[in-house]
Amino acid sequence: MRELKDLDWKNLGFIYRPCDWRYVAEYKEGKWQEGHMSDDPEVRINECAGILQYCQECFEGLKAYETVNGDIVCFRPDLNAERMYNTAKYLCMPPFPKDKFLEVLEETVKANIGYVPPYGSGASLYIRPYMFASGPVIGVKPSDEYIFRMIVMPVGPYYKGGAKPVAIMVSDFDRAAPKGSGHVKAGLNYAMSMHAHEEAASRGYADNLFLDPAERKYVEESGGANFYFITEDKKTLVTPKSDSILPSITRRSIVYVAEHMLGLKVEERKVEFAELENFSECGMCGTAAVISPVGVINDHGRDIVFGKGLEEAGPVTKKLYDTLTGIQLGTVEAPEGWIYKIA
Ligand SMILES: *Cc1c(COP(=O)(O)O)cnc(C)c1O
Repeated sequence: MRELKDLDWKNLGFIYRPCDWRYVAEYKEGKWQEGHMSDDPEVRINECAGILQYCQECFEGLKAYETVNGDIVCFRPDLNAERMYNTAKYLCMPPFPKDKFLEVLEETVKANIGYVPPYGSGASLYIRPYMFASGPVIGVKPSDEYIFRMIVMPVGPYYKGGAKPVAIMVSDFDRAAPKGSGHVKAGLNYAMSMHAHEEAASRGYADNLFLDPAERKYVEESGGANFYFITEDKKTLVTPKSDSILPSITRRSIVYVAEHMLGLKVEERKVEFAELENFSECGMCGTAAVISPVGVINDHGRDIVFGKGLEEAGPVTKKLYDTLTGIQLGTVEAPEGWIYKIA
């Protein structure tokens, strides 16, 4: 039996909470050096580090759970390893080896095992691998030195008492350029989206829906989650396809669950904004909330309402949410290779 930390598991919120151990590795002299576990939550870097001057950074986000049988597992971490590898390459950073990523993940979760929230609490251990340019640069170029860290923190469910629909608004800003960095998980995309997010929040909306930056005709994603829609007859799930959105692992999993477990048809294609009123359900998907049902999308004063609006999530959304969280917690049989057992 693992020894649980003494935390109020039901009231964790989604905030930073330093745990005992984090993994740290440095890249210098042209290669990744041997990493180690550290008890130091502080980072000391040069004043001219590439991250501070030109924002060379990328990250990932995934979770560890205690399942119904008491196993500690992660959900499809191989896809996070791969996405971080691709992001790093795009940002001219030395990619962290994928097999090493999984090794380090296991080591970091095990070192903090007492922080993995108990089954039934609705909470999970959030894992944040990230990597940044630590070497000094002043002329614009990729740094010669980098730091990779993997930190963890216990977090509560995004929505207490089940997923409640939210209202969002169509943004007049863009989150990514047509041939820009929208498809990689880089902090710089988030720096860009904060202005729009604050604007939405000040008007009482939970998030933004961004349109495609080239034509402002198609649906892209929100600041940190992909979209899916359910048709009026509840038979088809439609999800936007675009080169400037982040390939969400939750969205890819929902597509599989919809098609292979719930018997829905799936269409991954460009979705016109003008089509939205034909759909009966809308959801945002990402690791943090799994699914946030969207009840209302406000388009410059006009409300597009899905199903019962903010009252409750639609039946397909509920089924998707229950199936996916059931897979993560071991109460629903997982597709081959989705559950990575750590302890
Ligand atoms: C991380 C992220 C998502 C969600 O991806 P998951 O793999 O499902 O967590 C969606 N959009 C953006 C912009 C993201 O950064």
